[in-house]
Amino acid sequence: MINLQNFVQSMYAKRIEDCSDHDLYYALLAFTKQRSEAKCTNEQKKKVYYISAEFLIGKLLSNNLINLGLYDEVKEQLRVAGKDLLAIEEMELEPSLGNGGLGRLAACFLDSIASLGLNGDGVGLNYHFGLFQQIFQYHQQAAIPNGWITPRSWLSESPISYQVPFANFTLTSKLYDIDVSGYQTEHKNRLRLFDLGSVDDNIVYDGIEFDKEDIFRNLTLFLYPDDSTDDGKILRIFQQYFMVSNAAQLLIDEAIAKGSNLHDLPDYAVVQINDTHPSLVIPELIRLLELRGIPFDEGVEIVKKMTAYTNHTILSEALEKWPLEFLNRVVPHLVPFIEELDRRAKLIQDDPSVNIIDESGRVHMARMDIHYGFSINGVAALHTEILKSSELKAFYDLYPEKFNNKTNGITFRRWLMHANPSLAHYIEELIGQDYHQDASQLENLLAFKDRADVKEKLEAIKIHNKRKLQRHLEKRQGVHVNPDSIFDVQIKRLHEYKRQQMNVLYVIHKYLVIKSGQIPERPLTVFFGGKAAPAYTAAQDIIHLILVLSQLIQHDPEVSPHLQVVMIENYNVTEASFIIPAADISEQISLASKEASGTGNMKFMLNGALTIGTDDGANVEIHDLVGDENIYIFGQDSQSIIDHYAHGSYHPHDFYERETVRPLVDFITSDAVRQAGGIDERLWRLQDNLKYQDHFMTLLDLEEYIATKEKMLADYQDRDAWLDKVIVNIAKASFFSSDRTIQQYNDEIWHLER
Ligand SMILES: *Cc1c(COP(=O)(O)O)cnc(C)c1O
Repeated sequence: MINLQNFVQSMYAKRIEDCSDHDLYYALLAFTKQRSEAKCTNEQKKKVYYISAEFLIGKLLSNNLINLGLYDEVKEQLRVAGKDLLAIEEMELEPSLGNGGLGRLAACFLDSIASLGLNGDGVGLNYHFGLFQQIFQYHQQAAIPNGWITPRSWLSESPISYQVPFANFTLTSKLYDIDVSGYQTEHKNRLRLFDLGSVDDNIVYDGIEFDKEDIFRNLTLFLYPDDSTDDGKILRIFQQYFMVSNAAQLLIDEAIAKGSNLHDLPDYAVVQINDTHPSLVIPELIRLLELRGIPFDEGVEIVKKMTAYTNHTILSEALEKWPLEFLNRVVPHLVPFIEELDRRAKLIQDDPSVNIIDESGRVHMARMDIHYGFSINGVAALHTEILKSSELKAFYDLYPEKFNNKTNGITFRRWLMHANPSLAHYIEELIGQDYHQDASQLENLLAFKDRADVKEKLEAIKIHNKRKLQRHLEKRQGVHVNPDSIFDVQIKRLHEYKRQQMNVLYVIHKYLVIKSGQIPERPLTVFFGGKAAPAYTAAQDIIHLILVLSQLIQHDPEVSPHLQVVMIENYNVTEASFIIPAADISEQISLASKEASGTGNMKFMLNGALTIGTDDGANVEIHDLVGDENIYIFGQDSQSIIDHYAHGSYHPHDFYERETVRPLVDFITSDAVRQAGGIDERLWRLQDNLKYQDHFMTLLDLEEYIATKEKMLADYQDRDAWLDKVIVNIAKASFFSSDRTIQQYNDEIWHLER
């Protein structure tokens, strides 16, 4: 039994009733922190260090309350005092420590590692402004700093600090911890975020500009600072080395404290390298071991037993390659180690496709990970197969035993229990609470497929969530949406491979159809949300078109009752938690072979949306699990796409000339769009891109996409059949629990005790 009233009394000398939501947020923060601080850390011998540039953890209050088992009690005691936990939650600022799927995955993994009772911490950087905050101005994206650190926050200062040497100076780090409470576990885990005391928030001007060379003041300001210039690239190397040197020193110290003599370090620590940003941990560990008396050869053998790499992309432009010259400027003491690792790898096989240092003197980070780690995993079955058969084939031939697949997952504690309490409670009524810890229990829902009362209730929950989103958007963005319309949602980073532009062409199609007098049976609301990298012009152009179309449609009285386009500003975890439970249609329409896994797709199915998607990433596994009749798959398959690239056999202009396609593409530069605020330069560039380049083959799949969506909208009208599909999707989402994923990481890679 907790007594919140007493806690609040002792903190503020007043009653809950007399506190503001702001007061109460800080009271609950203190209360929750106290509870998790009281838990001990896991003391098992071996520990996993999940090193990641991003941890997209989202707001923590409710999630921590849920995991500590206090949520219902706290909510009730607040309610009795006339206060609403949801409103209090709004006072919390979302930590801005991540960018997209990869960072959210890291956050779900921390929840699952803790909830499974495994010994593991996340290690990263404490970015003051994280990724930028997105705002819309003149139908375009603008970026401003996203400050989230307040004097009282989830961060706890730790006494731990390390010296990190660079070419011309040595920096002293400062460690902050955020406790990670597992779901009803006795131990706690931690997210360990390194920072630098001299960093100065005030050097940022004009949006997110700052002096890229002023490392003392800028090092941990932003996640992924613009690296289109040399200064920017060098700053990223500074950040990466700062992150991994701290992580490596922490890991070594913790192992020694538990009795390691360093020769046996792999018995104490395993490092999961999340994408290539932490790859420098490999030479850094070897260097630190050498400083502690372990010869290079043995250092290499030790590191080979304790580092594992997760690949998240096959987009070659996203695989990091740092010029040796830049590494020499930032971390000259590390370069001889990298060169020696490269020399040794070339003795095994000297081949341009596997060399760490290429002919242009660039260091391929992923290649270092594969040569010197014991495991490389992809993040969905198809992705891992593509790595083995094409992208990393040369490596697969060399080290077949290192390759393995770990299909991504999501934590149901956040993405069902927290985001969609109505559905979570109803599922409890039907099948009990065991699914909180054993996701496979969700499959028991299949037994309710033919129950009219269950379908009726699921329908009511969806409408309830649509209304909740409606109120939220009204307040947040001043946008009014129609909860009787079909909610069709594409929320994810803006990228051409994810093909938001294809969805936009669908919107244009629908607009023209309505203009021609064909009124749809039910109104459609198309939601977009996502940030574009500030230097990524094509993605900025797509955001611009979405914003202009939204305006154009809203002001057209013939169309606006039937079609609406909503672009969510500053899409993040908080917004995702409102939108996903309200969605009917989940847009997962990447060009086949390009989306490594996706995790948004999993969140939507768990919340009862049906997927329209390509056979890409984890969609393939969703498709297998639910069967053809419960998903809407379209488009050319990954092998055909890979062949198109290999033979240069895709020519967008051929598709552009089709009479179903041409008017849609032409509409981008129409008078209607230009008069609604369209900027000529952006519109023409976007249109030309589609007609003459279309690197991600939008037009190739467009007609099939439109036809599939029309079929889906028609199917929506048969509520009974639709809700059958919904039940299958929720039940089969059980596979995508991150508890399952983490269990596999542990069984097959980490081998930690439980
Ligand atoms: C889940 C999630 C993502 C990843 O979405 P994808 O559709 O898999 O790209 C990105 N951002 C946020 C805020 C998320 O919650």
